[in-house]
Amino acid sequence: MNIHEYQAKAVLKEFGLPVSRGVAAFTVEEAVKAARELPGPLYVVKSQIHAGGRGKGKFKELPADAKGGVRLAKSVDEVRANAVEMLGNTLVTAQTGPVGKQVNRLYIEDGSNIQKEFYLSVLVDRETSRVAFVVSTEGGMDIEKVAHETPEKIVTFSVDPATGVMPHHGMAVAKALGLSGDLAKQAVNLTTRLYNAFVAKDMALLEINPLILSTDGQLRCLDAKMSFDSNALYRHPEIVSLRDETEEDPKEIEASRYDLSYIALEGSIGCMVNGAGLAMATLDIIKLYGEEPANFLDVGGGANKEKVTAAFKIITADHNVKGILVNIFGGIMKCDVIAEGVIAAVQDVGLSIPLVVRLEGTNVELGKTIIRESGLNVIAADDLDDAAQKIVKAVRESH
Ligand code: GDP
Ligand code: MN
Repeated sequence: MNIHEYQAKAVLKEFGLPVSRGVAAFTVEEAVKAARELPGPLYVVKSQIHAGGRGKGKFKELPADAKGGVRLAKSVDEVRANAVEMLGNTLVTAQTGPVGKQVNRLYIEDGSNIQKEFYLSVLVDRETSRVAFVVSTEGGMDIEKVAHETPEKIVTFSVDPATGVMPHHGMAVAKALGLSGDLAKQAVNLTTRLYNAFVAKDMALLEINPLILSTDGQLRCLDAKMSFDSNALYRHPEIVSLRDETEEDPKEIEASRYDLSYIALEGSIGCMVNGAGLAMATLDIIKLYGEEPANFLDVGGGANKEKVTAAFKIITADHNVKGILVNIFGGIMKCDVIAEGVIAAVQDVGLSIPLVVRLEGTNVELGKTIIRESGLNVIAADDLDDAAQKIVKAVRESH
């Protein structure tokens, strides 16, 4: 789960990290009021969307030479003018895709005078099973680009969970950024607090780009991208309450309501599978036969008719879906329940695209009979391989 920059900065502040003063605003009036609460004379008007690259982004509704999604303003009137231009409009950045994202919230910040911009991120390194830091002097840039073109400018290290964060980790950050004296002390402090925040809140990623050195000699987190491990969210209701559903795929929100593991993908074959392993294998075999899956969907072990119906509706609501493959191994979950769910869903939402069903396991014969006798145009398959070939063939023929 992701949160907005202004929310992330509030979390950072809670852990004693240096961030600029700022106020969130949903309307032009609120933006003006926010600016009046700040000292000036420099303000930053920042679009709050769940995507980076806002500074270099473009608003769809504005002329091509208009300014981007992060703007400096030198007076309250300029803040107002920028808020008018930005709120309600669609910002397209390198991370939003061509559709862009509507800007419904702004963050009005006290502007900093920047001496240097750095890059710093904290993440979970799956290879070492540790929390790792990635640090670079190339701040404000696309870090993938830096990694590709000048990898020597990126320093990484991980923290042993047995000791936790230590002063030498902070010194490593200071060294990587060329900081000494008081600035090295600030770097040590910053590193410790970032690590503590990361662990305490079960983050998956914390990216500060840029971390700046201001002209008055302070390190400050000027931008913050924060995402959380969804498996640990139950421990953090205060984070869950920051969820902005308008930023998420409505299909994924609907799926989470029914406790379905659903991830939207780009392809054309909708999949309904039970068990994550079987779901992965199903995606693989669809690709093997030359088509792309439209989603990952694990209905889980204890799915009932309602859950299956919901899953089916979510899949068919995706207009990219040109065919559906139901692949169920009935263990705890019985094949007849799945069959009934599929039929109920089809009767409810209709079916204009090919549907291949492969059932195996408990009550399989009953399940197959229910489907056969339903009178629905369902293609039955005997095993996974057969099912994948049949759905790929059906989708291609229906084009
Ligand atoms: P992003 O484009 O979505 O990554 O948004 P950022 O929050 O990183 O802002 C983009 C750029 O705007 C930064 O890299 C800075 O160069 C600039 N910027 C942001 N805040 C300030 C500020 O307080 N003062 C100045 N001078 N520039 C800022
Ligand atoms: Mn940034």
